[in-house]
Amino acid sequence: MKRKFSAAAVSLITAFSAVSCGSSKNDNANTVKIAYLPITHSLAVLEEAQQLEKQSGLKVELVKYGSWTELTDALNSNRVDGASVLIELAMKSKQEGIGIKAVALGHRDGNVIIVSNDISSAADLKGKTFAIPHRQSSHNILLNDALATAGLTIEDVNVTELAPTEMPSALASGQIDGYCVAEPFGAMGVSIGAGKVLFSSEELWEDSLCCGLVLTDKFINDRPDDAKSFVENYKSAGNSLTKESAKKVAKKYLNQSDEVLDISLQCISYNDLDITEETYNTLVEKVKEYGLSDNPPTYSEFVKNDF
Ligand code: ZN
Repeated sequence: MKRKFSAAAVSLITAFSAVSCGSSKNDNANTVKIAYLPITHSLAVLEEAQQLEKQSGLKVELVKYGSWTELTDALNSNRVDGASVLIELAMKSKQEGIGIKAVALGHRDGNVIIVSNDISSAADLKGKTFAIPHRQSSHNILLNDALATAGLTIEDVNVTELAPTEMPSALASGQIDGYCVAEPFGAMGVSIGAGKVLFSSEELWEDSLCCGLVLTDKFINDRPDDAKSFVENYKSAGNSLTKESAKKVAKKYLNQSDEVLDISLQCISYNDLDITEETYNTLVEKVKEYGLSDNPPTYSEFVKNDF
């Protein structure tokens, strides 16, 4: 089994503030207001905002949130034009009648299953406590996939929902035995010596989906030319991100150490962010199989590729 993270001893960085600090100014007609969490999974939209800042025309106004719940509330009530968000959360909103479309992936790969140092296989997870950020997440799916490698199911573990910022310290204190969450919080658990990588996402689920770039129907319908330009610039920003430039933009927005970012960025990429029907349908199957939703939106209902 691959072990992509090294257990470099670095200090635990103060977690990001769980406070929404979005600006309310949105007077500029050329501005697209995008919600994000300060995680490596949202670097493509952060990079796009930087690139467009230097050009005339469309601008991205970034609105930072401290939790998926706050971010989803803003997206679902049209307080922002779009968001980089867990795709399962957006699918659930769509299923409940919210007018949104997924227009691209947030990233490719980039998740890990972190476990305490005394756990050496998926079978050892039986009876243990495992944290995920939200039931509607690829982290929940990856936990199910990991358990399946040992013939176990979600019924064999105690699953708890925790804020990502709390997971590394919860593992260190023994409150939980493992977790799966967006980066850099997996890397932080490794860097403080609290645990190790049991699986990386690509070992469990090839071409896994996790975060999506989602736009509101209101924005797409009211400003179709801006929506098209925004999505095109987003994809090219993703394609332009190298390990070096990703680290640079992460340093600016994420308030994490070099060591944590280096570990976090080892197995994530931002190129080719189209959502294909094949990968989406695999996600839909997993969402149904693992009980996240009985009736997720179909590709044609939820994904928009025709800008
Ligand atoms: Zn993600």
